[in-house]
Amino acid sequence: MVDYYEILGVPRNATREEIKKAYKKLAKKYHPDVNKSPEAEKKFKEISEAAAVLGDEEKRRQYDSVGHEAFTKSGGGFSGFDFSGFGPGTDFGDIFESFFGGGFNDFFGRRRRRGADLRYDVTLTLQEVAEGVTKRLRIRKEDVCPHCHGSGAEEKRTCGTCHGSGHVAQMRRTPFGVFQSTTTCPHCNGRGFVAVKTCRTCRGRGHVEREKELRVEIPAGVEDGTRLRVAGEGEVGEGGAGDLYVFISIKEHPLFKRDGSDLHIDVPISFFQAVFGDAITVPTLTGKAKVKVPAGTQSGTTFRLRGKGLPGMHRGHGDELVTVHVETPQKLTKKQEKALRAASEAFGKSPSKSLFEKLKERIV
Ligand SMILES: [Zn+2]
Ligand SMILES: [Zn+2]
Repeated sequence: MVDYYEILGVPRNATREEIKKAYKKLAKKYHPDVNKSPEAEKKFKEISEAAAVLGDEEKRRQYDSVGHEAFTKSGGGFSGFDFSGFGPGTDFGDIFESFFGGGFNDFFGRRRRRGADLRYDVTLTLQEVAEGVTKRLRIRKEDVCPHCHGSGAEEKRTCGTCHGSGHVAQMRRTPFGVFQSTTTCPHCNGRGFVAVKTCRTCRGRGHVEREKELRVEIPAGVEDGTRLRVAGEGEVGEGGAGDLYVFISIKEHPLFKRDGSDLHIDVPISFFQAVFGDAITVPTLTGKAKVKVPAGTQSGTTFRLRGKGLPGMHRGHGDELVTVHVETPQKLTKKQEKALRAASEAFGKSPSKSLFEKLKERIV
């Protein structure tokens, strides 16, 4: 049998705060204004009923002692209530406050508006991607007023209506009946104080436009196009701060091409290095490394340097892939030309096998 705890997905020993959170989350999902599926309205009523009981200390105690079935049947407070008022357009703020009291701010953005989200573009070098980097960002935005720290008041006194608590007791009619509940103090809007003198800097708004410096840590291995969210660093509004999104783009490197966490580099070698083999030194992102080119290496061969790529965001370290290209000498001295012509005589002008034989080998 389903009980109210299961409906809200909270343990039996959940705190009121946990119940409130669970309800708010589910209500956002199933409120008939945002969820148009036919089950949503039913589900919304179900979770609201559960929250109405579990959110009320007295009702919850009763419910826990008699059990779900007895409680719903015996009219422990709930059978026979009219749920028809819970259609689209229901002012969720009122319901929520009647269950849980104040603290309801920006649900659906209808009341106090949260500040805007911001975007900031950052370009990184591959070196920065390899090691991770902390960037200092200077951002002009609406921020908490430094003079009044967001209160909007130059001078304030405790609210006489709620005596500073920000809440007042209230009787409320809801589709579940009359509730004695606490609600946000209408006199001070839940702030617990009233301004005697409005702050001059922000003219009572609590926030002003100013420049702020932020340090943002960018993890090693980020990909081009990554978006990092810095919670609460957007613009400040009456209902709280928006988020800052840092958009990452990565500068092209003159030598390396990136493929996920692998790096590719093309390296020229001489005809003789290819023929006789050699140990060549190649650049890496952090320094140099040696690659052993064996005798008889063909142009276009790729060698893998394990772990010399970029750290992966999700998987381990990438590799560096070195592709060698045999350079044909362009300017020859008389002596070189003579030597090469002699060699050419020894080899014959064409490759070891004729072109047609080689192509035939590929057709199997
Ligand atoms: Zn101020
Ligand atoms: Zn008050």
